Amino acid sequence: MKNPAFEKETFKKSVKENVKNLYRKTLKEATQQEIYQAVSYSVKDVIIDQWLATQQTFDKTDAKIVYYMSMEFLMGRALGNNLINLTAYNEVKEALEEIGVDLNAIEDEEPDPALGNGGLGRLAACFMESLATLGYPAYGCGIRYRYGMFKQKIKDGYQLEEPDNWLKNGYPFELRRPEHTFEVKFGGYVRAEASGNGHTKFIQEGYQSVRAVPYDMPIIGYNNNMVNTLMIWDAEPIQCFELDSFDKGDYRKAVEQENLARNLVDVLYPNDNHIAGKELRLKQQYFFVSASIQRALARFKKNHPDIHMLPQKVAIQMNDTHPTVAVAELMRILLDEEGLGWDEAWEITSKTCAYTNHTIMAEALEKWPIEIFSRLLPRIYQIIEEINRRFLLDIEAKFPGDYHKKEKMAIIHDGQVKMAHLAIAAGYSVNGVARLHTEILKNQELKDFYEMFPEKFNNKTNGITQRRFLYHGNPLLSAWITDKIGDDWITNLSHMEKLALFADDKKAQQEFMNIKYQNKLRLAKYIQKHNGIEVDPRSIFDVQVKRLHEYKRQLLNILHIMFLYNMLKEHPDMDFYPRTFIFGAKAAAGYRIAKLTIKLINSVADVINNDKTINGKLKVVFIEDYKVSNAEWIFAAADVSEQISTASKEASGTGNMKFMLNGAVTIGTMDGANVEIAEEVGEDNIFIFGMSSDEVIEHEKRRDYNPMEIFNNDQDIRQVLMQIINGFYSQNDTELFRDLYNSLLNTQCTQFADTYFNLKDFRSYSDAQKRVEEAYRDEERWAKMAMLNVAHVGKFSSDRTIQEYVDDIWHLEKIQVEPEEF
Ligand SMILES: *Cc1c(COP(=O)(O)O)cnc(C)c1O
Repeated sequence: MKNPAFEKETFKKSVKENVKNLYRKTLKEATQQEIYQAVSYSVKDVIIDQWLATQQTFDKTDAKIVYYMSMEFLMGRALGNNLINLTAYNEVKEALEEIGVDLNAIEDEEPDPALGNGGLGRLAACFMESLATLGYPAYGCGIRYRYGMFKQKIKDGYQLEEPDNWLKNGYPFELRRPEHTFEVKFGGYVRAEASGNGHTKFIQEGYQSVRAVPYDMPIIGYNNNMVNTLMIWDAEPIQCFELDSFDKGDYRKAVEQENLARNLVDVLYPNDNHIAGKELRLKQQYFFVSASIQRALARFKKNHPDIHMLPQKVAIQMNDTHPTVAVAELMRILLDEEGLGWDEAWEITSKTCAYTNHTIMAEALEKWPIEIFSRLLPRIYQIIEEINRRFLLDIEAKFPGDYHKKEKMAIIHDGQVKMAHLAIAAGYSVNGVARLHTEILKNQELKDFYEMFPEKFNNKTNGITQRRFLYHGNPLLSAWITDKIGDDWITNLSHMEKLALFADDKKAQQEFMNIKYQNKLRLAKYIQKHNGIEVDPRSIFDVQVKRLHEYKRQLLNILHIMFLYNMLKEHPDMDFYPRTFIFGAKAAAGYRIAKLTIKLINSVADVINNDKTINGKLKVVFIEDYKVSNAEWIFAAADVSEQISTASKEASGTGNMKFMLNGAVTIGTMDGANVEIAEEVGEDNIFIFGMSSDEVIEHEKRRDYNPMEIFNNDQDIRQVLMQIINGFYSQNDTELFRDLYNSLLNTQCTQFADTYFNLKDFRSYSDAQKRVEEAYRDEERWAKMAMLNVAHVGKFSSDRTIQEYVDDIWHLEKIQVEPEEF
């Protein structure tokens, strides 16, 4: 049933009205940005009714709700995807055309709400979309950073970071909800007071506090009238008259509190898989967790007088350890505000909270110094001390006398609070994000915890939403697929299996490859416009887009490109299939080696792209400011997907799945979800290389890897490494890339040389790349491989992932929202 609001004449009128009311302009006079705003408000009008209806259905059905707590939500643009999920995209596109407005140009006016770094934040966004599409009641809980992920500019080959003031024009899809304001307290001290019933009351005094004000964003399900909510919190100063009575009239304190609120949500820390350990970050964590739990409990108590019912009606999922203070905050409220005893409060908390682990890398595991923690969150720290005390008794009961185990597993140890240990001790579920990752957790990193709580551990292999990364990002392929197999894939990706029937069909192969060519043309134009580089759309588009991190090994990729270039120079007539290597990656602002890698990629690009002697057979492009909106186009245009992390280091990866969905073939290691991708597509349709995770872990244990041996014995590798420090790519500045060279070879510089085994995997990578070229030359073989990748992508829908979370962890029931007008 079509929504009458999207009937063309009605919609056109609504847009014109909005332009008039918002800007006192006619459509002709309005800028593209103003039209974008007007169109968005017209769409929001429709959403609001469904949003209200969804909330009323929550109340009517008394359904259990999941609160997905995440420091990051990497949402991407909303307008296009909202229209798609309202099944109004084409109607609106046509209606706008009739009044001379190009929907794609309008979509380009929307800033990416970049409230996340990379995979972890994008996962949260895909999960929200799948929850709504599957009809499960959910709230996302996060922070409304005033400045999101920095905008990346490339100047002279170097990354520059510019502030991302995404709110500067106002964001049409958010709704400020001041009626759901809560107070969040920091610092001060805790006073104990005997209360009548033999309990002790704990009262926080002398604290500073801020007002947490939520902005709600609608999360629209596909074609089902369901609109869930993402609540992101802003911090505002407490009004002077609201000061704790103890501090009334304290001017200094009032100013301090105002500053606290000012700074609290200013920026997202730009580290991916790495902890900065800054005090402000801990404040951010407690701020959004406390406010979210207060709102969740207020909603719960509206309809449920008995707090013991909480685990039946509320699940709290912690996306990594960042929101782990949730367990202590829930305990605090149950003990201090609801007046429960410890055992009752623990029973409820440990049946409500669940934890998702995202990494095993030491530098990413959150630990807070006791000093910071206890000063900032005195009551929360007390509660964690008590959780720790009881946890150590449990360990003693299970492993009597094993002192070493207690040291290793303690929540508080060596002057630090270990957030992962708290999350596992308190949560009823601990999940990894790909099968291999979960096995490594159980058998290596969290072995002690697995032995203590085997029943808590489970795997939930990540997924992605096909509505954004195929339907919206690749309209040509979407339409073709629907033409071939119908449109069931939109809500059930396993239907893609039917495409396998066409994999040997010559006509289908040609159509498929022609669509890929059109998408490559689209990207080539983008590159021409943004980089001023001409690339050949008939060359192989070989793409590595993801955060810049040593473990992801962009360095291996660029070293291999340098090697190819040397070969081409030496054998100008060699049979070489033209290839365009495309990179996109932001580096954390303080991550020196990562930023230097960006410079190296750009320097190599400069030399190679300007060398006329190789006849344009090799091109290297670094796409500036990689983000969700340009990612959608990049995936659509890729032939080859680079997933080349050191085995055991990438927990899952989700970029790998988006490429596969768009018919790119993976070259990758047996790491993260690549293992499961290989299993789904079969070994003929993927290029696997490099050490296994077991081999990597074994070398790490034995510390027996010596890259210098490879350097000494492999002339091609030696040549490439020497070019890093002989000025070949740096206009005779031999020192520019010295740190990269040292990271690979010099044990004096890093604890271990080549920590990520770049040189060790180099030959096997280059052999795999030869197999890629050979396969691409055979047009039919390649078309078949690419199509079979799409055909076997079904497992990697976030719809599948969410259904598993629901079945094994959250136990939610689907609701049905009837369309209604208010
Ligand atoms: C999917 C995605 C990521 C994660 O990519 P990986 O290759 O899994 O690291 C990061 N950033 C953006 C913008 C994405 O869309």
